Amino acid sequence: MIAARRPSWQIELAQAYRNPAALLRDLELPIDSTRVEEHANARFPMRVPRGYAARMRKGDAHDPLLRQVLPSREEGINRIDYSEDPVGDRAALRQPGLLHKYHGRALLLATNACAINCRYCFRRHLRRDTLVPQDHHLERALAYIKSHPSIREIILSGGDPLCLTDAKLAVLTASLREIAHVKRLRVHTRLPVVLPERVSDGLLRWLSGQPWQPVLVLHVNHANEIAAEVVAALARLRAARVTLLNQSVLLKGVNDSLSALAELSEALFAAGVLPYYLHLLDRVQGASHFAVPASQARLLMHELRRELPGYLVPRLVQEAAGLPYKLPL
Ligand SMILES: *Cc1c(COP(=O)(O)O)cnc(C)c1O
Ligand code: SF4
Repeated sequence: MIAARRPSWQIELAQAYRNPAALLRDLELPIDSTRVEEHANARFPMRVPRGYAARMRKGDAHDPLLRQVLPSREEGINRIDYSEDPVGDRAALRQPGLLHKYHGRALLLATNACAINCRYCFRRHLRRDTLVPQDHHLERALAYIKSHPSIREIILSGGDPLCLTDAKLAVLTASLREIAHVKRLRVHTRLPVVLPERVSDGLLRWLSGQPWQPVLVLHVNHANEIAAEVVAALARLRAARVTLLNQSVLLKGVNDSLSALAELSEALFAAGVLPYYLHLLDRVQGASHFAVPASQARLLMHELRRELPGYLVPRLVQEAAGLPYKLPL
């Protein structure tokens, strides 16, 4: 028997940087690793695909892509107004792996895995525990969806759902297709951006083979993330009639300027993606150094509206526990 060949995206994923010193060395930056930095890396390990690292500027310690992924000693800052579950995921958990918080939409945490570990991730403390179901829990999540006819849309999230193999994705959607009241499928993913190899023929077949018009909500925070290979991957998705939207997080030192936000919107549009949400940072413990005050966020939005057409201005929102939708600011 011939062993199945591993797809190129899985090989690329296996070769991702996991060692901060190795990444810094390849970026020609001094290796200044302190105890706290090692501590941060141990709690939430660094993971950066090589293709993503190649978009960082060599010798620039303040590169906006590097800042998103490098474990930093600032993660050791403890704030009483920050928590391990800032948006109330635990309270919205209806079954293992199933969040039902907003009317008509349920969010399935399809996997724990991500191709990249973003330091500001609001699920950075939740991903290692029982929030995400094992395979045998999926039945319970599906039973919940079945018994709630008000659920019209399923959002695949995680982790990053596109870290699942094509075969696992197919099993998932086969089960969802049996539920007549599910009318829309949405996928929240960073993979087409951080690992564009993932947009394989198999994935395109899976997306276009569904009865629903697929919607992909990407996660890009800075125009420099949209390299030529990302543009090509997004073009393939668009050719497969996938609707492409983007959500970003407003991050200090990454995109907290008018020019960074305007360039991001323009680069997204050029690649066929419309800006959807700009999130105020969720107050997750260890990420307070990324926070941009709400007053400054509002000012940036005001300036952005003066600069760009309305359809290139994302909605500034804040997620809060117990509210019926993401709160517009
Ligand atoms: C963000 C989110 C959604 C989707 O909200 P939209 O405003 O429709 O994009 C759904 N469920 C949960 C739990 C969410 O956090
Ligand atoms: S890709 Fe999304 S879920 Fe994964 S670490 Fe980044 S922000 Fe968190």
